[in-house]
Amino acid sequence: MRTPVPDYLTELIEGCTADADGELASYIPELANVDPAQLAVAVCTPDGTVYAAGDADAQFTIQSISKPFAYALALRDRGLDVVLDHVGVEPSGDAFNEMSVESATGRPRNPMINIGAITTHSLVGNPAIPYEARAAVLIDGLSRFAGRTLDVDEAVLESEYATRYRNVALASMARSNDFIHVEPDEAVWGYTKQCSALVTARDLAVMATTLAGGGKNPLTGEQVVPQWVCRQVLSVMMSCGMYDAAGDWLSQVGIPAKSGVSGGILGALPGQAGIGTFSPRLDRFGNSVRGVQLFERLSGDMGLHIMELPAPSIDAIGARDESEDGRPLIAVQGPVIFSTAELALRRFAEIPDDERDVVIDLRMVTTMNSVGKRMLAEGVRRLKLDGREVELLLPRADFSLT
Ligand code: GLN
Repeated sequence: MRTPVPDYLTELIEGCTADADGELASYIPELANVDPAQLAVAVCTPDGTVYAAGDADAQFTIQSISKPFAYALALRDRGLDVVLDHVGVEPSGDAFNEMSVESATGRPRNPMINIGAITTHSLVGNPAIPYEARAAVLIDGLSRFAGRTLDVDEAVLESEYATRYRNVALASMARSNDFIHVEPDEAVWGYTKQCSALVTARDLAVMATTLAGGGKNPLTGEQVVPQWVCRQVLSVMMSCGMYDAAGDWLSQVGIPAKSGVSGGILGALPGQAGIGTFSPRLDRFGNSVRGVQLFERLSGDMGLHIMELPAPSIDAIGARDESEDGRPLIAVQGPVIFSTAELALRRFAEIPDDERDVVIDLRMVTTMNSVGKRMLAEGVRRLKLDGREVELLLPRADFSLT
């Protein structure tokens, strides 16, 4: 048998092909030269399988989709407090190239709009390195997220840098308010280079899965950034990633995402999938028209909305309640997180007082987060404090509750 997923993606692409609405971005002269008919979708699973349809190997410059990754690298290099001192996390409600700063402090509102992204760029790497080296750290970081070495489109870099004045104005404002500590021209050059990295829809899907999977690249196995960084980045993508269409996007699509003016959209659904789309014509917010359509359909058809919760965790406890030798047995199964661990603890508490020996069977547990682990460990500790003999059945030698 052939898995039906590629056929589904091909149908998805065919359903959007005819739509020629929207305009190419033209404020970066070189971007007006691309073929507007290009259309692609790619989906990467947590174990690194990539499904793709359409022009999924066509290269385009990453543009604003680099912003969440620059934010991730800044968090990695400088820590949460320093980064928050320089860039906020509130949606701006303005276009991406507005002077969106907090009125009291002048702090850029968030890292997904240009003023915040140029500030974020300047926080990546050791503060003392020259600007060319900082840009190299950025391209290297983007490449690690993608799992391959990304090239830079020098023509787009030159074309955008030649028309850089609006971004220099934004950087100068951040510089004068002391949020950027380098020369505005240098920060904008590095940021523009970061935006000129060449990717495909396939790369976007892999980069998204790296974010969605806690920072580990599914192709190379490299832990690119720590897990806490991904939580922060995905949160900001959810509230600020689609410019001032963020509210519509959250309710219609419900996937943390980031779009760029060259026509890409990247979506990262925590723990489930990374998605990349590419189609150059943009709507009035600067988001790809057909990219938004692809995401809306994909999310609806595949139930990918982040608020569409999985079935209640009632099956977290297996049906068997007695061991072969007659001891009470509680079998925990599936993912152990707060809700399933709470149910297990309630079952522990229901074991009759006169049962001295109990068996806790964790062999069918699939994953356990730190909270789930702490809760079960506390339950076992309390059973023992009650004077019981607890036998723990674990799935693997390297798996423990401590
Ligand atoms: N490099 C572009 C700019 O700074 C990125 C903007 C975008 O993709 N929305 O204007």
